[in-house]
Amino acid sequence: MSEESESSLLVIILDTNPGQRLVQEQAHVLTQCLESVIAFANSHLMLKAANKLAVLACHTKATEFLYPPPETGSQSMCRQHDGQYELFTHVEKTIRQSIQKFVVHHIERIKQEGENTGDTLLAGALAMSLCYIHRLERELTAGAKMNSRILIITGSGDSASQYMNYMNVFFTAQKQNITIDVCSLDQDLGLLQQGCDITGGLYLKIPQLQGLLQYLLWVFLPEPPIREKLVLPPPVKVDYRAACFCHRELIDIGYVCSVCLSIFCKFSPICTTCHTVFKTPGPLPIKPKKKKIKLT
Ligand SMILES: [Zn+2]
Ligand SMILES: [Zn+2]
Repeated sequence: MSEESESSLLVIILDTNPGQRLVQEQAHVLTQCLESVIAFANSHLMLKAANKLAVLACHTKATEFLYPPPETGSQSMCRQHDGQYELFTHVEKTIRQSIQKFVVHHIERIKQEGENTGDTLLAGALAMSLCYIHRLERELTAGAKMNSRILIITGSGDSASQYMNYMNVFFTAQKQNITIDVCSLDQDLGLLQQGCDITGGLYLKIPQLQGLLQYLLWVFLPEPPIREKLVLPPPVKVDYRAACFCHRELIDIGYVCSVCLSIFCKFSPICTTCHTVFKTPGPLPIKPKKKKIKLT
């Protein structure tokens, strides 16, 4: 009985930043990823009729929902095509149309505003996903249960500039019982690894892009409770370095404000976050020597 009212929501965040090394070298990589993502998304919907799906795309300037489509009034379901299940056709068509609009709009914006600089807004996309999940959870009927997770697919590098945003999002997700999975296409991602570790998700840097769909289906399709029973790639050793608040660079050893826990790479007498004033660390106090007791 309880199984009946249990559903699973999968939110996929796709990094469409044209500045990614993979995309710059071969532009068709993005199309290939998209094909895999659509097939993976439909596989998730196929597992259970009650399963839900959301797909977001983000780059350096914006984040947008590709699926479900934003307009709610005139939701026209597609006609059956080649015997394919209507929902699958709908998902595929909607994602393709909206990503095209999204990418074209971004290219126009880059032309107007100049260079495509900055990191992909992954932390923002994560925050949007959390809000979306929260909304759906509030709309659930009494007794219904929804397990939510987020999967990030990215070829970008680490961005310590979003360190604070990442940490806020990770701990919120942990509190809400939302798993964050990361599939890296190109580079090792220290900060996102921390996010996976905090929320109990999986981090995987895929060895070759051709196998993307297979990795998605093998590692990321099973839900977290089932994963324990599967043979999956061994977990990576998480790089738990933090970024300093002054230069947004990853550091091994630093100064931590005892009031607000802000991290700095250099000592500063005033905490720039909470404005607490500290004493300058002078030389270590010399202990007064104990008077020798003269023995006569
Ligand atoms: Zn610093
Ligand atoms: Zn402080």
